[in-house]
Amino acid sequence: MIAGIDLGTTHSLVGVMESGFPVLIADESGHRLTPSAVWFAADSDEHVVGWPALEKRKSEPSQVVTSVKRLMGARSPSSEASLRVQVGGKSLLPEEVSALILSKLKADLEKACGKVVDRAVITVPAYFNDAQRSATKRAGEAAGFTVERLLSEPTAAALAYGLDRLGEHARVAVYDLGGGTFDISVLELRHGVFEVLSTNGDTRLGGDDLDASLAVAWGIPVTDAEKIKRGLTDQDSIELDGQIYLRADLERICQSVVDRTRAHCLQSLADAGLETSALDAVVLVGGATRMPLVRKFVASLFGREPDVSQHPDEAVALGATIQAGILEGGLQNVTLLDVTPLSLGIETFGGLMNVIIPRNTTIPCKAGEMFTNAVANQATMRISVLQGEREMARDNWKLGEMDVVFSPSPKGQARVGVQFELDANGILHVLARDTVTLRDTVVQIQSAVEVSDEAVEKMLGDSLEHAFEDMDERIFTEAKLKADEMLPAIAAALTQLEGEVPDGVRQEIDRLVLAARSAMEARSTGELKALLKELDTITEPLATALIEKTLAGA
Ligand code: ADP
Ligand code: MG
Repeated sequence: MIAGIDLGTTHSLVGVMESGFPVLIADESGHRLTPSAVWFAADSDEHVVGWPALEKRKSEPSQVVTSVKRLMGARSPSSEASLRVQVGGKSLLPEEVSALILSKLKADLEKACGKVVDRAVITVPAYFNDAQRSATKRAGEAAGFTVERLLSEPTAAALAYGLDRLGEHARVAVYDLGGGTFDISVLELRHGVFEVLSTNGDTRLGGDDLDASLAVAWGIPVTDAEKIKRGLTDQDSIELDGQIYLRADLERICQSVVDRTRAHCLQSLADAGLETSALDAVVLVGGATRMPLVRKFVASLFGREPDVSQHPDEAVALGATIQAGILEGGLQNVTLLDVTPLSLGIETFGGLMNVIIPRNTTIPCKAGEMFTNAVANQATMRISVLQGEREMARDNWKLGEMDVVFSPSPKGQARVGVQFELDANGILHVLARDTVTLRDTVVQIQSAVEVSDEAVEKMLGDSLEHAFEDMDERIFTEAKLKADEMLPAIAAALTQLEGEVPDGVRQEIDRLVLAARSAMEARSTGELKALLKELDTITEPLATALIEKTLAGA
């Protein structure tokens, strides 16, 4: 069993996979969020972590450490030595304090599942440097964990939101406004893994700043301000100690703090080289993003409604737990992260592979495309279902075949929709529908996902090795298909327009057609494409003339 842990500045959480589902663990008081606070006794080694430590902040503030995450891996300003925290007459490294928080999470987890859990995935901000990451890892080890992986927080959040389902090259922005830090990251899904394209933020900007602003504006203690702030997330007004507080007032006071996140978002987008329109999703992380004010701000800045389908303050821990499940290997049968090992598609005209579900797409998934008849009055279409990464159909594996019957129609006019549905068990259902008769043909293919690792390796190796030849062949085949269509059409037009095409034009067309035929023979793709383009231009008036003629005749 591997634990998934969000070691946060304000709150920390732990989760574990249970029968294939990520479950976050509650502490003895029933809270899944544990404050990242530790109280140290003044005259003994005693310490307390979490809610009771936060309580003690009222009576013994100097004995409580909070927000120690900010100090992880830091050097003391006066010397090269690691910075230490002085508390309750003790001098501790930040990672030693973090280790106590992790130990508490570990104990809660072990109590909940009744066994020892000594492996963990721990999240860190995307901007954490080596020293900060190493300190986090040492904290995990000191708490008795083998740290299997340090996972970046935005990546964890993206996993929790299931954004891997968006498919290859999906880009997402993760807007994380926590208690004391603001992070914005832009990620791109590449080869089934989220890569951080850019990250930006402010390590001194978060919900605490909102509390401080409110406390000043309303002349109340920050703890009250925080309570009122939370209340006004769900209600328009709230009463405390006989005083009425309005959400509208809160929004006016908080606006300038929230506005400070704008420049970071814009910078992060600029660094990623993206406009907001290029994003496929924006997700919210961090407790403060529960506020309607923040949601409105994000929606207007990014020009789209953010995804709020997860609890923003639990998303990172949930993602860490999912990652733990992946590392355990127990997630194979869980739909969330099972992916197609190789692309699935069908053979199209000219023996090309037409990918319908790309490799590494999360299953279950569904995708489709429209196809047409290559020959006039063709009554059936053979669909070969293929798997692999090569451009030419013959180099891929054939999983099965089906014949689709459709109503005879002129070339290019039939419409057959082909849909691939890969279910959670890895079974591929291929459905072909004649859009005229709405007749469906269905086949099921069992083996789409169960491919041995070696076979996948070999296919990927081959596709890399032959990438250039494959691409050349595809481009040539596409040009040839175009020529096969164009040349007879031109010949037909010339016959119909007998005597109406100037000699010079006709001769030029003949010359180009001959040249195109020999370019096809010689398989010179570039030349063929250039000739077809010329033919396209020169025969344009012919097409117009033909249409006019038809209209005049009618
Ligand atoms: P961190 O990642 O820094 O540990 P969290 O994601 O737990 O932080 O966010 C903590 C912040 O979220 C605090 O400022 C808290 O006041 C704020 N917060 C939590 N719930 C709400 C809510 N319902 N409305 C407004 N703010 C909230
Ligand atoms: Mg956080």
